[in-house]
Amino acid sequence: MFEIRDLKVSFGGIQALKGISLEVREGEIVTLIGANGAGKTTTLRTASGLEKPLEGSVFLDGKEITKTSARDRVKAGLIHVPEGRRVFPQLTVMENLDLGAFQRRDRAGIAADLKMVFERFPVLADRKTQLAGTLSGGEQQMLAMGRGLMARPKVLLLDEPSMGLAPLFVQEIFDIIVKIRETGTTILLVEQNANMALRIANRAYVMETGKIVLSGEASELLASEDVKHAYLGG
Ligand code: ATP
Repeated sequence: MFEIRDLKVSFGGIQALKGISLEVREGEIVTLIGANGAGKTTTLRTASGLEKPLEGSVFLDGKEITKTSARDRVKAGLIHVPEGRRVFPQLTVMENLDLGAFQRRDRAGIAADLKMVFERFPVLADRKTQLAGTLSGGEQQMLAMGRGLMARPKVLLLDEPSMGLAPLFVQEIFDIIVKIRETGTTILLVEQNANMALRIANRAYVMETGKIVLSGEASELLASEDVKHAYLGG
């Protein structure tokens, strides 16, 4: 469904990605975990066309999209929900959600997806006319994900959706990610919270300084002593 092969990215001589390959099969949640600065965000940004790789390729649905613009990747169904709840603060909740669907023309489908987003995130329905900048952190994260869903993603790239959230919201966000998979969306999830991410994922990749150092079934990684010591806090 989604694959990257041997991706290399440099920033002014510093190699952020040193040849990353990974695959997400249809209907899977795959998580990419690793320490700060390992290159997880750069991997997602390159996948969605926001960074240009020196080498390597990106495939969606078996088609190479390495040279496709970020906008056309959105059209093709590859949707990136960036780190840090990037919503438009001066626009209302409703306007932010409308923007998620800006490349779609299927009015009935858009209306159905809006209903689905409001069912999944009732707090957004309650706050439709509120300015996004005045939402709490957790609510902004939900809005960012809701906006991503309005684009009707085939593949959703989620960058640290639980970052900075209170524990109650963290659980809620992970529950929602599982529900998104149930509706047929394939998910690549970058997380600091490796423990929670491994619990909901099918498979996982572990990154260290620009390389994949470990990969496998999420349940196996969760049970591995080495992974526990290095990434799960004992
Ligand atoms: P975190 O979990 O802290 O967000 P990460 O695994 O997502 O980390 P990246 O943000 O991908 O890591 O960063 C990988 C490396 O690339 C880091 O050393 C970072 O400083 C560097 N880097 C990322 N973006 C840029 C940029 N635009 N210019 C220069 N260096 C960059």
